[in-house]
Amino acid sequence: MRYLVVSDIHANMSGFDAALRESQGRWDRVVCLGDVVGYGPDPNEVVDKIRELKAVTIRGNHDKAGSGLEDASDFNPVARSAAIWTKENLRPENLDYLQNLPTGPVEVDGMSLVHGALRDEDEYVFTQAQALDGLLEAPSPVTFFGHTHIQGGFVLQGDTVEPLRLKIPLDSKFAEIAIEPGTVYLLNPGSVGQPRDGDPRCAFAIANLDAKKVEFWRVPYDIAAVQDRMFKAGLPEPLIMRLAFGR
Ligand code: ZN
Repeated sequence: MRYLVVSDIHANMSGFDAALRESQGRWDRVVCLGDVVGYGPDPNEVVDKIRELKAVTIRGNHDKAGSGLEDASDFNPVARSAAIWTKENLRPENLDYLQNLPTGPVEVDGMSLVHGALRDEDEYVFTQAQALDGLLEAPSPVTFFGHTHIQGGFVLQGDTVEPLRLKIPLDSKFAEIAIEPGTVYLLNPGSVGQPRDGDPRCAFAIANLDAKKVEFWRVPYDIAAVQDRMFKAGLPEPLIMRLAFGR
């Protein structure tokens, strides 16, 4: 089975459309690591599409805040105002869908799915030290995580954790890694809708564990169109600007 692995779509339908278009025919099922909404202008369109695809989806912190499960009091002011806008604009059935998303980790076909860390859905995994606990306790050889919006992740071999170094040049679409036996992987597909690793292209992954490989993708999308919809929706300017920089 081939899985399209998406995370942190953040209500960016142009980014999600580009990911689906470019990856067409290369996967059988979709898994989503949360933060379906928040920040972006298209919460209903993205939730509708996730539901239509029957994606196996776990909740992220922005899904909790945007659906009213949490009050966003621990968010910065810009994120909080976007969460309030999201809650006001989601249709009731989509609010209900987000409120009922499961908490990670969820196991699918030998992979674990989490939003933040294995032991805490809201915890960020940025460093090798932060990755180690999860890697040592991981229920599956391959765990996918999101939340940081940074494509890549960490690899545990023996007792050594190394960051996964990926480089996907502008003239190519993906880089492939081999899944080796005796190795534990904590992999981040990157963010579909708000990349923060310096590459503004939409990020996602395609996992084919039967063939023991994972592809990390980057594809361009119409950033200006999303920025225009955000501007018209009155979403905060820093959120509009950052899309162009991928930061
Ligand atoms: Zn996020």
